[in-house]
Amino acid sequence: MSSHKAKKKFGQNFLVDQQIIADIVSAIRPEPDDNMVEIGPGLGALTRPLLKRLNHLHVVEIDRDIIARLENDYPQEAASRKLTIHAGDALAFDFATLPAPLRIVGNLPYNISSPLLFHFAAYTERVTDMHFMLQNEVVERMVAEHSTPAYGRLSVMLQYRFYMEKLLDVPPESFRPAPKVDSAIVRMIPLPIAEIAVKNERLYAQIVSAAFGQRRKTLRNTLRDHLDEAAFAELGIDSQLRAENLAVEDFIRVANYLNDRV
Ligand code: SAM
Repeated sequence: MSSHKAKKKFGQNFLVDQQIIADIVSAIRPEPDDNMVEIGPGLGALTRPLLKRLNHLHVVEIDRDIIARLENDYPQEAASRKLTIHAGDALAFDFATLPAPLRIVGNLPYNISSPLLFHFAAYTERVTDMHFMLQNEVVERMVAEHSTPAYGRLSVMLQYRFYMEKLLDVPPESFRPAPKVDSAIVRMIPLPIAEIAVKNERLYAQIVSAAFGQRRKTLRNTLRDHLDEAAFAELGIDSQLRAENLAVEDFIRVANYLNDRV
């Protein structure tokens, strides 16, 4: 087949550094019987070594040219049902149709990485772990601790549900074409349902959005529709602080307090 021209609209930056690819696969530690799905297999940089270690692999890919290429490159795997190709948008894909417990991996298209993370978060009960390549700046925000510059809505919305760890820095020259940004591999392990302390996830999301909506303002301002001074005092939270100063546990306490009060 002719060579594939990378498409910007699909966030196509293909991994070419064999050492990095090997490091990613060893961090994932695939076991033959794992139920695994790869998002955006592209030209197969990760697909190939994963298929070597797994009895079966699902992939979800949006680009028709790439799908044709995968069918051409892996005729045996596709025929023997070792590889199942799902053509379509991962953002619209129902991961509940795949066997559980599921492991999700992928070098994600950076232009849709946050919506993808939130989409995967809907399936945490079925998921063992997830390993993703993302923009390093996004990974830093995911794992950031409170009162640090990278801490924000993404940190608070993911940390109450996942244990997360940055595993590996990946420089631009590991890809073709090279992205303009640094990348990193992150591991996300869903917390057991019993350990998720948030009682009302919609209310939690609402409080987090309100608090970070105007990052520079005090909580007294941003949460004025939800908490008065007496409520701040009862919670033991200084209303002069800003959202970035509140730990995830504090956001959980605020949301649960409001949930119990109504
Ligand atoms: N896994 C390959 C690698 O590491 O070289 C390719 C990674 S590339 C950064 C992202 C891949 O995701 C591309 O193959 C792209 O076509 C695919 N993709 C982009 N948007 C997608 C979407 N919404 N759903 C599924 N796949 C998508």
